Amino acid sequence: MNKRIVAVRRLHAEHLKQLEGMFHVDYFPHLDEGNLDAYHAALAHAHGLIGGKLSVTPALLDGAPNLEVVATISVGYDNFPVDEMSRRGIVLCNTPDVLTETTADTGFALIMATVRRVPELDRFVREGQWQAHVEEAQFGRDVHGKTLGMVGMGRIGAAVARRGALGFGMPVIYSNASPKPALNAELGARCCSFEALLACADVVCVTVPLTDSTRHLIDADAFRQMKRSAIFVNIARGPVVDEAAMITALQQGDIAGAGLDVFEQEPLPSSSPLLALPQVVLLPHIGSATHETRSAMAQLAVDNLALALQGERPPNAVNPDAFSMTSAQEKM
Ligand code: NAP
Repeated sequence: MNKRIVAVRRLHAEHLKQLEGMFHVDYFPHLDEGNLDAYHAALAHAHGLIGGKLSVTPALLDGAPNLEVVATISVGYDNFPVDEMSRRGIVLCNTPDVLTETTADTGFALIMATVRRVPELDRFVREGQWQAHVEEAQFGRDVHGKTLGMVGMGRIGAAVARRGALGFGMPVIYSNASPKPALNAELGARCCSFEALLACADVVCVTVPLTDSTRHLIDADAFRQMKRSAIFVNIARGPVVDEAAMITALQQGDIAGAGLDVFEQEPLPSSSPLLALPQVVLLPHIGSATHETRSAMAQLAVDNLALALQGERPPNAVNPDAFSMTSAQEKM
């Protein structure tokens, strides 16, 4: 019997075709009130679930008793009840590596745009305010040669650090769960305490995953310890930062600016005070959003799903213990 899968949100025709060649596919390019019942009905028979921005709760799992594999089109998996999935023998796969360089590009775009005030000065020109030579009021700061402080030195953190050290001559310091001797050697990077990083960095860039131990890691106290000239960049997850504390720090001039791809509430509400702050550069969570990378992520998710449903160990299982506990083959 063909296994059944549910595919959620827009997938390219080529990926959908691959899935349809292997499985019975119930495809939901959009999920809203209008098709939620059909989605749940499809999940009731599904062996696999694939998509981006999936919302998986224990209640949803209760309604999907045959589910063996969930393949998320993302590297972050903070929105999944991983322990609960492991307990039920459901393998969760993510898409690391293929998005690392693109997300690092986004991080560096935010660093450049914020430090050199690119969107603000773009508006200055468009609004017809460029009437004479620009004054000091329009000056930014240098990026090259400034100290880059990475909070998190994993795949994406290292890729941002490489851009800073090798491309812009930035001394790199980092705080991370574990030291990275190879990166110290490659980039002359220096592992330091979180507090030392906050005190020394000209640019503080966050790339840790969202976990219980990183939720609100960057709080009011952390902003107080940063330089008043510091630029803060978040390409990780919104809740790693206490957003209200960040807004206060920006409004009081405790830090000079912020470049943000992620927020505590997404989409960013129209009432957010961030929208009124010219020293803040805002992106709509597009860290990995290029044609090439989103396609590579979808392909990796398809491969993960297919392997796991064929009873083989997928390369990117977040909870490989689930695979060992109840291998997909046993359920076949
Ligand atoms: P990764 O390779 O796992 O790197 C995460 C790093 O954070 C690791 O080096 C880890 O330390 C460190 N870390 C974990 N918990 C920590 C803690 N409590 N204190 C200090 N360091 C800690 O992951 P990645 O591929 O770089 O991705 C990182 C995150 O970026 C993802 O989880 C995701 O949320 C986010 N992301 C966002 C976008 C976007 O669109 N903006 C795109 C992709 C990813 P160890 O090395 O010691 O384990």
